[in-house]
Amino acid sequence: MPISAEVRAQYEPVIGLEVHVQLLTRSKIFCGCSTRFGDPPNSHTCPVCLGLPGALPVLNREAVTMAMKAALALNCAINARSRFARKNYFYPDLPKGYQISQYDEPLAEFGWVDIELDGKPKRIGITRVHLEEDAGKSLHEGFPDSDRASYIDLNRSGVPLIEIVSEPDLRSPEEAYDYLTRLKLLMLYLEVSDCNMEEGSLRCDANVSVRRVGTEALGTKTEVKNLNSFKFLQRALEYEIDRQIAVVEGGGAVEQETRLWDSREQRTYGMRSKEMAHDYRYFPEPDLLPLVISEEWKEEVRRSLPELPEARRERLVRDYALPESDAAQIVASKALADYYERAAKASGEPKATANWLLSELLYLLREAGKEASQSPVPASDFGELVRLVSKGSISGKIGKEVLAEMASTGKRASEIVAEKGLVQVSDPEAIGAAVREIVAASPKQAEQYRAGKAATLGWFVGQVMKATRGQANPQMVQEILRGELEGKKS
Ligand SMILES: [Zn+2]
Repeated sequence: MPISAEVRAQYEPVIGLEVHVQLLTRSKIFCGCSTRFGDPPNSHTCPVCLGLPGALPVLNREAVTMAMKAALALNCAINARSRFARKNYFYPDLPKGYQISQYDEPLAEFGWVDIELDGKPKRIGITRVHLEEDAGKSLHEGFPDSDRASYIDLNRSGVPLIEIVSEPDLRSPEEAYDYLTRLKLLMLYLEVSDCNMEEGSLRCDANVSVRRVGTEALGTKTEVKNLNSFKFLQRALEYEIDRQIAVVEGGGAVEQETRLWDSREQRTYGMRSKEMAHDYRYFPEPDLLPLVISEEWKEEVRRSLPELPEARRERLVRDYALPESDAAQIVASKALADYYERAAKASGEPKATANWLLSELLYLLREAGKEASQSPVPASDFGELVRLVSKGSISGKIGKEVLAEMASTGKRASEIVAEKGLVQVSDPEAIGAAVREIVAASPKQAEQYRAGKAATLGWFVGQVMKATRGQANPQMVQEILRGELEGKKS
């Protein structure tokens, strides 16, 4: 169903996202079992999270605190009183037969996140943030009899989640991508989740509909599930938007249904229609008291909020005199921003540190497949290297070689420079001698330069640098070369 760009332009997509974020508490939301990922199946279970009759849930205070942090960072109002509710459905990985969630009285509401679109800010509403427990996991693959049987791992049963529901304010797959990127970055800065999509700590469903440009009424929406990567989110939205436009263009009507994204086939397919939709029969959880949040608790959490990405970007621009674009790139990862600030302090050269970080360090990390927090070169060592280059002790070219050596040996820049005798030569006598030798040996190029071919200077610089094994101060080489070439003109 290829849709032409012309037809697509006649429609406006309307998208809202429901994002599940797994909280980083050490124990589960209603029992003391560990939340650690990757341990042997069913090794973190107890009567509460196994759903045994008579077991009673006890709310984890830390989970509430983390959820409040997220809600406040999303500019939500926290309700003084919220309530847990039972969401009833049967599934093999849900032994109780219900999930404890929040329904008509959520933890927090009425928030927003600002995204950016072609350099212009756009505000996306947050409908609600609520707390709930995760279900277990069905394992359909990886066992000798996986063709006949599925296994259940209940380690995840009862792990705390927040669900962040956006208003249908997103108008394109790109906006949805940017929104989710910012949401993830916020959660990472707050340290309430590791947002690891492969391990399922960040999951996303999308509500999608299309309408003719200029019309107000919303089209029928579908819910697309299984969007477990940023790439899938964008691809699935693109696919689903085109699919709905094709249905409408063909004279049909979009059916309200839940659809799954199939990443192998690159398409969505219907999972259940409205007629089969669940009626979860929500009712207030009788085993838990309403969640009452005092002003004091709320204030305490508000005061504990760390500096968030936007504020940090502004501070980097203000305190380190960085250009906006450098600062934006640096704060896009909390680990990178932390690394930068340590390195800039060590170097005393904030702008040079940003340049080196955004080119050489990022390259090094990409090659090593590592994050800034796992950098083979400690931030203070990196700062020292930048300082050596900035004050001219070593040239930039040598600096790059030293950095590679630092990464592979763990040695400090000054050690490597001393060991290998790499200190930059800034002695005019020594450089002058090398320059005179090269100029004398290259009368043809010297003639070209004097005849006005300025680019020849670069060739001369290269020759002198080669002769000095890259150790000559390139700026001095240029100056002395100019003097030598131009001085002999007459
Ligand atoms: Zn448990």
